[in-house]
Formats: sequence, structure tokens, C-alpha cells
Amino acid sequence: MVAMADYYEMLEIPRTATPEEIKKAYRQKAIKFHPDKNPGNSESEKRFKEISEAYEVLSDEKKRKIYDRHGKDGLQGHAMSGGAPGGFSSMDEALRTFMGAFGGMGGDSIFESFFGGGGQGSRGHRQQGASKRVNMSLSFEEAARGVDKELVISNNVTCSACKGRGAASAQGIKKCTRCNGTGQVIEQRGFFSMSMACSQCHGEGQTISDPCKECHAEGVIKEKQHVKVHIPAGIDSGMRLKMNGYGDAGPGGGPAGDLYVFVQVEPHDLFEREGDDILLDLPISFAEAALGCKKEVPSLLNHTCRITIPEGTQNGKIFRVSGEGFPNVHGQGKGDLLVKIFVETPSKLNEGQKKLLQEFSALEGPANLPKRKGFLDKIKGIFSCVVSMISFLFTV
Ligand SMILES: [Zn+2]
Ligand SMILES: [Zn+2]
Repeated sequence: MVAMADYYEMLEIPRTATPEEIKKAYRQKAIKFHPDKNPGNSESEKRFKEISEAYEVLSDEKKRKIYDRHGKDGLQGHAMSGGAPGGFSSMDEALRTFMGAFGGMGGDSIFESFFGGGGQGSRGHRQQGASKRVNMSLSFEEAARGVDKELVISNNVTCSACKGRGAASAQGIKKCTRCNGTGQVIEQRGFFSMSMACSQCHGEGQTISDPCKECHAEGVIKEKQHVKVHIPAGIDSGMRLKMNGYGDAGPGGGPAGDLYVFVQVEPHDLFEREGDDILLDLPISFAEAALGCKKEVPSLLNHTCRITIPEGTQNGKIFRVSGEGFPNVHGQGKGDLLVKIFVETPSKLNEGQKKLLQEFSALEGPANLPKRKGFLDKIKGIFSCVVSMISFLFTV
């Protein structure tokens, strides 16, 4: 195996680079190697994964420190965003890093410069429209059951009046006379000749003499779109759904970008989620723990489960109810419900109760206290050791 290059070398930055410099370097390279810009190119795919991994580490102050001191091996066992430190194994991980760094619906999002939105694309080239990110918050139950949601998104859609041409009629589009339709002009600057965007057509290669009145020659208009999103049961925080073609329409009738829905699941009052399992704390009384009991416990989606607590159950014991957890989001079965026992010591006892407990205490033998027995033996050992030391001091 060929040794992987140094993270700093991958991003072509000095080891003293500031966080802003790291982000800037990653942005430049990510745009260059992004799979959407290089479809089917496995070399740029590989580079995209590498630089995303480098950014993942160097943008995290803690991981960067470890990496600086111990190299990649130091990060072993340090969770990367879903992968081993041997590198991002899937494109999804790399894309998640990318979206984490530059995602967002704000005007400053990378998409405007990257995916061709923002009106700076050339009409002649039918570029893909901007991709977008939306955040969606779901309740615990919705995540367990799966749910259909409707999003309202303000998208650029192809202008229907001019079919994205920007001109009211086909005759209204004229090849630019200055650049002869190339969008570029060569300018002589001293010894150099430089290729520049044509100033007459703004690099578009064509001019519109008869602008469409609906879209003011933009070829796209803003429209509120209602997007139905099916959320599969078992989804968890941090997962994202990709809705192909629900981003902005491309300028000049180009294909639409995509919509990424980032999911956040709200916490539950009773349950805690761990993968597909759910955890529930169950308080029981001291007498119930000692004598055993049957309990109805809540489960997901208003189910209840009956569990049998055997006599002599200790605090902290966990009972597993099979198949009462979250459905697996990939359709692979269901998780379990884990019930953790909290034995509560009785308080505010009345005289009668105290008397009974005192009688009980008097009758309690070593066999009733399985854990404390071993503990007391150890204490006795330490005590006799101290005693012999003291007697030693006195004899000197
Ligand atoms: Zn139009
Ligand atoms: Zn021109």
C-alpha cells in the first residue's frame, strides 16, 4: 500500500495555517474535485475523499493537536465522522464533511459559487442549478414511526414564458458581436495576452435584445414549491435525505440541483436512544426489588410491555425486551428496549414501618447481603493491617 500523503500537503498549506486558511484551502480543492463536477472520475473522487478527511481532522482543534504530535496513528480509536482513521471509506462521509463546512441556505453558501446558481452561470452552457440544504426537526415518535412531511422551499424555477431562454422570442437572442459567441475575449497586457470574460455579454456569449418580461431575462423565476418528503421509520439525528432535482433550476433551462434534508430528532422525556435500542430508567421500591414483582412499562408508540422483575434484583440491573426498540432505518429488523432498574430507598417512614424494618434488620444475615460480604472481608483485612502497624510503632 502506498503511504498516504500528509494532511497539510494534501491541502497545500503550511503547518502553521490558521483555521480560516485551512477552510479556504479545502474550499478551493473541494470545488475542483467535487464528484458533481467530475462525474465518473475515480481519481478526483479519491482526491475529494482525501482532502475531506484532511479537513475533518485539521478543522477540529483537538484532532489537529493529536495529529500534529502523533500523526495519523494517534487518531486511531478517535472517532472520525463515521469512519476509521484509515480514511473515508465512502463518498457519503466525505460529502457530509463538505456539507458540514459549506452547507446552509444562507446567501454565503458555497452552492452559489459552486453549483452555478446566483445568476453567474453562462446561459449557453445549461449548467445545473444550485443545490440546497434544509434542516428538519422530528419528534421521537415521528422518527420511530416514519412520517410524510411537506416542505415549502423558495426555488428558482425555469421561466415558463420563455422556457429559460431569457428572451421573449427565439429571435431575441443574438450571438454576441464582441466575442463572437465564445464569452471570452483575449486582451493584450504588455507581454502577456489574457483571456477575460467578455464585457458586452458578461461571458455568456449572447445578448438578449428582447428580454422576457416575466423573468427579466434571467431565465428563472423564484417560486414557492411544496416538496413532499417521506421520512423512513428509524431515522436518526445526523442522517440526511437527498431529494434529486428539488434544488434550484439551472440557468438557461439547465437541470435542477438537489435538495438535502438534514434530520434532527428531538429528545424524549422517558427514553434515550442508542442506535436502534432505546433505554428506559425504571424506579422500583426496595420491597419490590427484594420480593420480585411484575411491572407494566411504556414502550414506543404507546405500547406497553409487561416485565417480570425477579426477587433479589439489584440496583442498576438491565432487562432487555427484544424487538421493542426502533425499527432499523435500512429495514433490518428492530432494536430492543433496555429497562434499567433504579431501586429507591424508602423515606418518610412512619413508626410502624420503622419498627418492622428494625425487626428485619435484626434478622438480616450475611446471606442476605451478597455484595457487602466480600466488601467487609476486605475492610477487615485493612483494619488488622493498621492495628499491627500501630502496635509496631509502640514497641519501637
Ligand atoms: Zn422568462
Ligand atoms: Zn461577448
